Amino acid sequence: MIDRDDPIVTTDLARLPAHAMAAALRTGEASATELAAAHLDRIETEDGGLHAWLHVDRAGVTAAARESDVVLARARADGPAALAGLHPLHGIPVALKDLISVRGGPVTAGSRILAGYRAPYDAHVTERLRSAGAVILGKTNMDEFAMGSSTEHSAYGPTANPWDLERVPGGSSGGSAAAVAAHHAPVALGTDTGGSIRQPASHCGVVGMKPTYGRVSRYGIVAFASSLDQVGPFARDVRDAAALLHAIAGRDDRDSTSAPVPVPDGLLSLPASDDEAASALRGVRLGLPREYFVEGMEPGVAAVVREAVDGLRSAGAIVEEVSLPHTDYGLATYYIVAPAEASANLARYDGIRYGLSVRDGDVLADYLATRGRGFGPEVKRRIILGTYALSAGYYDAFYGTAQKVRTLIRADFDAVWASGVDAVVAPTSPGVAWRFGEKLDDPVAMYLTDVCTLPVNMAGLPGISVPAGLSGGLPVGLQLIGRPWGELELLRLARGHEAVTAAAAWRTVEPPGLAALRAGEAPTPAERVAALGAGDR
Ligand code: GLN
Repeated sequence: MIDRDDPIVTTDLARLPAHAMAAALRTGEASATELAAAHLDRIETEDGGLHAWLHVDRAGVTAAARESDVVLARARADGPAALAGLHPLHGIPVALKDLISVRGGPVTAGSRILAGYRAPYDAHVTERLRSAGAVILGKTNMDEFAMGSSTEHSAYGPTANPWDLERVPGGSSGGSAAAVAAHHAPVALGTDTGGSIRQPASHCGVVGMKPTYGRVSRYGIVAFASSLDQVGPFARDVRDAAALLHAIAGRDDRDSTSAPVPVPDGLLSLPASDDEAASALRGVRLGLPREYFVEGMEPGVAAVVREAVDGLRSAGAIVEEVSLPHTDYGLATYYIVAPAEASANLARYDGIRYGLSVRDGDVLADYLATRGRGFGPEVKRRIILGTYALSAGYYDAFYGTAQKVRTLIRADFDAVWASGVDAVVAPTSPGVAWRFGEKLDDPVAMYLTDVCTLPVNMAGLPGISVPAGLSGGLPVGLQLIGRPWGELELLRLARGHEAVTAAAAWRTVEPPGLAALRAGEAPTPAERVAALGAGDR
């Protein structure tokens, strides 16, 4: 029920969690049209200073919301059973990272090479959202082709972090994370190849989950590294993340790597009560991997993570130290496998089939000119790296070896599960969000920020980042890593953590950048970067 006496709620529907929006839609206290308008208004006045969005089509969003309202009205007239049959996301606005195809709409993947391209079909996840009745609000900013950890590699300019507008939101799904943190959308989709959902979730103080590889179809998603990419949810709480995962998960015949594993309905019934949620932690065995408290980790981050683990222990979890001995090789092997796959996936941007087309004489000259002008520096770096690793004479030494080490990384986790551990708890990122430009000149420093998330992709496992506290006023995420197909168990644990920290003082802190955004006073992130002299080279 909406508390109409609560001034925040009456003035600002956009601050509600999606499950509260859903309840209000069912009682008729709010309409999908009203919800869409509340978010669209916010985006219009505030996004100048945030730049979380690349495309928003107000007329299209309003039309979709009206359709949701028609279905809602019919269900209300038909009675409680009809209402209960609606998906929890019915009428709820959802943001999509701009590499997810929406039929007839733009998909840039943050790249100039896809400027002007329009998707000829819906991605599988888009179809699923439509059939759930969700309202697609628009497309969010991202690092070009999802390569990066800060969203500074977007060809369309950077996104700011709502917690400090001079800092990055993380990446590559930085637009989705920032949009959710700023109440521009209650939930959003991102993709995670090496951390691109969990790391920006951590830096923006929201929940972000990478499902098991194969849980969600990649059909209609611009590919980066096909053996690692997964689509997953962002939300402001765990229940909303679970509902969004429920909507998008499941086998799709158009992606042969999507698995015919049943999607648990339990995703829609995580406990609302904190007491019940916390009781799920009793007797659970959690492994704390020694290798994840890496050298160079910020002490403030380590302290928040250890405090969160203590909280889980006080609630009855059994925490034991575990070892994942090949963790150290995660980064090196990822930066062979991911660029190798990227170099193959990006070969299709030839100036003929998609978006940008530069004419420069003959076909080969057109190809070179289109790719030369269309791709940014980080993407070129990856293509060169990947092409080299796959070239004759180097394939076995680099790609072949990396695949073998990948098996060892997976075996580390298998050994931990075999010992009876239910989930691994770790930091999401070794630090908090950094300032614009701080790591742009040093790609390896940027790559190193993903040490705690990359191995999870290499092993194909589900992982979630949940807000755990603040360090120097900036959000810190706790990462929970689970067994293959163990999303429901992982979300229950994450919900347990949320319950035991529900009364923590840090939960009452608003992202400080929101006030300036609301006042519409903030300079654009691109202007801030220009003032710092820190643009992408
Ligand atoms: N930051 C990592 C990279 O640059 C991971 C990106 C991702 O998960 N898409 O490749």
